[in-house]
Amino acid sequence: MEKLKFERPVISKINAGVPDKFGMRTFINPVTQIDGIPVKDIIDQYGSPVYVISEKTLRSVYQEALHAFTTRYPKVQFAWSYKTNYLNAVCRIYHQEGSWAEVVSGFEYNKAIDNGVPGNKIIFNGPDKSAGDLKKAIENGSLIHIDHFDELYDCIQVAKDAGKKAKIAIRVNMDTGIYPQWDRFGCNYENGEAWDAINKIMPDESLELTGLHTHIGTYIMTPAAYAVATSKLAQLAVRIEKKYSHHIRYIDLGGGFASKNTLKGAYLPGTDTCPSFDDYAEAITGALNNSDIEYGHMPALFLETGRALIDDAGYLLGTVLANKRLANGRRSLIIDIGVNLLFTSFWYEHNIAPAQYHQNDYEDTTIYGPLCMNIDVIRAAIMFPSLNKGDHVVISRIGAYNMTQWLQFITYRPRVVLINMKGEVEVIREQETNETMNMLDVVPKHLKRS
Ligand SMILES: *Cc1c(COP(=O)(O)O)cnc(C)c1O
Repeated sequence: MEKLKFERPVISKINAGVPDKFGMRTFINPVTQIDGIPVKDIIDQYGSPVYVISEKTLRSVYQEALHAFTTRYPKVQFAWSYKTNYLNAVCRIYHQEGSWAEVVSGFEYNKAIDNGVPGNKIIFNGPDKSAGDLKKAIENGSLIHIDHFDELYDCIQVAKDAGKKAKIAIRVNMDTGIYPQWDRFGCNYENGEAWDAINKIMPDESLELTGLHTHIGTYIMTPAAYAVATSKLAQLAVRIEKKYSHHIRYIDLGGGFASKNTLKGAYLPGTDTCPSFDDYAEAITGALNNSDIEYGHMPALFLETGRALIDDAGYLLGTVLANKRLANGRRSLIIDIGVNLLFTSFWYEHNIAPAQYHQNDYEDTTIYGPLCMNIDVIRAAIMFPSLNKGDHVVISRIGAYNMTQWLQFITYRPRVVLINMKGEVEVIREQETNETMNMLDVVPKHLKRS
């Protein structure tokens, strides 16, 4: 029999009358391993903090999402949203799974090409495409999603100069019952701007209207909003059929599905409240199947899901630097993971757990990062057990946006490792060093030491 662990006695003030509807008890299960690899071993070998991506989770969540849509609609194509996580290894896993690339800048476009994505499987979104970007995209036969009229005119010019036909779609923004409306991207549906754009595009010899696109927002908790968006795009498609006898090839519903993270201020945890892929798929494919689009010309359904696909596959492992009592007696903990590495901590109450056995002395705690900046708060208030300096913690569900929106600030950015399908740990991005940091700095001559 295993010897019972000693728990030191504690005296704590009773906060009478504050149990919530879920009762008094708080318990955080320690996260001691990821895909069978002990957290301690990963930190010992690759340092702390360190990001971990589970290839197994990444692939299985993708398959789950794909299954939800392909069982309801015959032509479905996912395109990986590069800005959500553009580590090359991550992108290549999605491409291996059959995903195309969805990019929003010339930089991301080049990345997709370097990752081996054929030009005609790259969707080019966003409000900032230079004439050079457009030229490259037209020559490669990529799908250009027009954001505004100035871009449309640029695109016409570039296509004419290149003597090639540009494959374009327009991004449409609309009222789906989600507020504030994301009306800064694309052409508006209700005020006729989108229809106006279509009527400028259709007669132009240098353009081929291949699709209709929308991205209604992010972390959308209401599948019904997608049904509205799908119906509105379908109505545009029907109008195009009627007026021009032209059939668009695809309808692209963008991204925006909620991951299971908990938003700040949410009453219930995200695991209890976020819709499933089936819920979203049912709303979208239902609206598409029930639309008036001609049966023989049903468009392909494109999806650019980002956060809901990858959040669960990402972890951030760290170490306790210190325990500290604040002036008012409140317990605080300083860990080596700061907001520079966890940008999403500004929106989410991230799951954070000890990585080893801990005792049951939970207390309301503030968890700070290591930065010498007052904003560096990982959790403002969490019932947390006491940990010792040197103990490890695991923040889970952080795969989306943190490895692209991270800031090089005060310290180096750490390694990212992948736990592959065989359960082996592989580095997929190295830690920054003094050398990488100085690489782009240029010291003027008069400041050089002679
Ligand atoms: C960011 C973005 C996505 C991915 O959004 P998620 O909310 O992460 O699913 C998809 N399409 C476009 C155009 C985007 O800008």
